[in-house]
Amino acid sequence: MSPGGDDSSVKVAIRIRPQLAREQIEGSRICTFVTTGEPQITLGKDKQFTYDCVCDLDNSQEEVYSGTVKNLVEGCFDGFNATVIAYGQTGAGKTHTMGTGFELNTQSEQEGMIPRALRQIFNGVQSRQAQAIKEDSIKPEFYITVQFMEIYNEDIHDLFNPEGSDKIRIHEKEGAIVVDGLKALDIKSYEDTMRLLQTGALNRTTASTKMNTQSSRSHAVFTLNIKQTRAAPCNPDEKENAKKIDLETVSSKFHFVDLAGSERLKRTGATGDRAKEGISINQGLLALGNVISALGDASQKRKHVPYRDSKITRLLQDSLGGNSRTIMIACISPSDSDFMETLNTLKYANRAR
Ligand code: ADP
Ligand code: MG
Repeated sequence: MSPGGDDSSVKVAIRIRPQLAREQIEGSRICTFVTTGEPQITLGKDKQFTYDCVCDLDNSQEEVYSGTVKNLVEGCFDGFNATVIAYGQTGAGKTHTMGTGFELNTQSEQEGMIPRALRQIFNGVQSRQAQAIKEDSIKPEFYITVQFMEIYNEDIHDLFNPEGSDKIRIHEKEGAIVVDGLKALDIKSYEDTMRLLQTGALNRTTASTKMNTQSSRSHAVFTLNIKQTRAAPCNPDEKENAKKIDLETVSSKFHFVDLAGSERLKRTGATGDRAKEGISINQGLLALGNVISALGDASQKRKHVPYRDSKITRLLQDSLGGNSRTIMIACISPSDSDFMETLNTLKYANRAR
């Protein structure tokens, strides 16, 4: 799959997780079948769908990464924004795939998309600087910051600054979406970043315990801002001036979104506050589905893309479409006990294409 390249701004990948021990003990059968050599999946007997990429239950994190996120990270060095979104019911593998759990002792082959992207970015920085030194040219400088937030019931919480979440506001500045009041931390190395993220993930768990909620009901958004100052490519028409080197600044933004579980309320029998919570979660997921499908539909695109219908779509407004590459990874369970939720996820993902 070659993310970005063509005009369709959102690519869709499906990832099937392996069966869990519990599902095997309960005797659940596998009801997902991937067509060999095709990005096609059949659910049950005859529900067939085609996407940009399908990862089967035995595909490794590395395989998922090289099939989806890897190319987007390279684009960040050239000023392309990128967004990776994990969608799916609770337990389908969103957090595992994204790596939003940030356990420091995760074995490296089990690492999710975020740790892998961070490694690739820091390696990319190093190799660009080393290359410049070797060629005795101007060394590119990088200024990288991270932000980490949670959207719960249409409220934003700063996972790097839990006490200071009251003043957060999303607004637009010169065509870019800015989140005022959200802490942005400088990062210099992979290890530093992972430690920060672990603290953030812990804040997420603590907050949800305090509020007696589950983190599966909120969206977690991790953002990397990359600012690069480098020698501008010189204009061949101005050979006389070749000695004068101009600097250019290239900025890009990379969002990693671990969405709230997409399961329907009925099944969990929610009432009262839980139901209200369910409504605003679904509002976000519904709005996101509408935005993504409007972007994929050329005739709708010119009309109206409903970014303002939820916090998550407003936040991602400048990162979906335009100068931006997006991949949705829809995570599903292979087991027949999850058949209906899986069908819902496959339909949602199909609409996004
Ligand atoms: P979600 O975030 O969608 O609720 P999780 O990522 O927490 O789901 O996954 C649910 C369970 O399945 C976890 O125990 C996780 O370790 C396991 N799991 C998910 N995907 C995989 C995978 N590809 N390989 C092995 N285990 C997985
Ligand atoms: Mg999760």
